[in-house]
Amino acid sequence: MNVVEEAGAGDCYPGDRRYGFDTLAVHGAELFEPVTGAVSVPIYQSSTFRHPGLNRSTGFDYSRTANPTRRALERAVALLEGGPYGLAFATGMGAISALMKVFEPGAHFIVSEDLYGGTYRLLDGYYRRYGYRFSWVDTSDPARMEAALLPETRALFIETPSNPMMKVTDIARAAELIHRRGGLLIVDNTFLSPYYQKPLSLGADIVVHSATKYLAGHNDTLAGLIVHKRDDLEEDLQTALKSEGATLGPFDAWLALRGLKTLAIRMKRQSESAARIARWLRSHPQVEKVFYPGFEDHPQYALSQAQTSGSGGMISFYLRDPAHAPALLSGVSLILFAESLGGVESLLTYPLTQTHQAIPEAMRRAAGVDERLMRLSVGIEDPEDLIADLDQALARCVRGG
Ligand SMILES: *Cc1c(COP(=O)(O)O)cnc(C)c1O
Repeated sequence: MNVVEEAGAGDCYPGDRRYGFDTLAVHGAELFEPVTGAVSVPIYQSSTFRHPGLNRSTGFDYSRTANPTRRALERAVALLEGGPYGLAFATGMGAISALMKVFEPGAHFIVSEDLYGGTYRLLDGYYRRYGYRFSWVDTSDPARMEAALLPETRALFIETPSNPMMKVTDIARAAELIHRRGGLLIVDNTFLSPYYQKPLSLGADIVVHSATKYLAGHNDTLAGLIVHKRDDLEEDLQTALKSEGATLGPFDAWLALRGLKTLAIRMKRQSESAARIARWLRSHPQVEKVFYPGFEDHPQYALSQAQTSGSGGMISFYLRDPAHAPALLSGVSLILFAESLGGVESLLTYPLTQTHQAIPEAMRRAAGVDERLMRLSVGIEDPEDLIADLDQALARCVRGG
């Protein structure tokens, strides 16, 4: 074991006052860099670190294992999620893949059936080959979740609200169910971020993020995070991180840290605009149905209100006429037709051929992902401009051209 002589002298917050979420998002785990006083965490663009002597370390040896800029991001996100451990990866998929390394072949998982298509592709396409088994379940229904439990079930993996149908799973109930069997609750918290939902405080063991989305928030970098509270898993996860090597580079870690500073104001704005746009869409004659957890008639509205502090910036909706889909996608001009979500720029996505293309047809249809479905990630532009853009694009669908 190396002797660690930490270069940064730990937390620099004055006194023992507990700071609010917005403050912690701006400042991270360290108020400033202690050697120079730098307010912005420096980009430690170094692959390796000089050892002070044999069996001695500054705490940093080689950047695949640990890097100070990445460490600052890991500590900041861990602080916001309320967990003791944070690990940063090159992408969200890198984080989820590393997480799967802590289980043994034969393990069974219950996974939300309505989830990010890339996660489905990774689990079904790869991990199933290595002896893992998956049950794809509508986890918004606790009875179905319970019915899917097997003696070999090691974890429940949920997205809530789900992607793209915005179904809400009861996190505390899921935790209670899986803990009775000695398993883990894993929550992909990408859609709401810790600003609106803190799964660890509701009983989850592990939170994963595509930090590419809200945490970094500017559609300019890919990143993934795991935050967890399991002392027994920390070493395994760190080993998976450094062995697989899907680690986040210092510059990307810095971009994510910079994005994180405005997480609170971005989330608030995006959520307010989304609520407004969701209401507007709902009253539009060419829109058949809008999926948004902030609607009082959303099937899990009460649960959503109880376990989150806001509804977020994501909206899905069905067009009345699926033949209008291509015209809408090419008709928006301010809103960009692109894959991804959570950034300051509003994006319109077509899950059928984009984010959920990897999911088999039957499963996709059962979940409700079809030709009619659009997914809108609301950015921080003027909401009036976004509505005007949707309005002209929807009008164009009817007119043709
Ligand atoms: C995008 C996304 C992922 C994958 O993250 P990447 O950073 O693109 O690898 C995982 N889960 C959800 C919910 C996502 O939206």
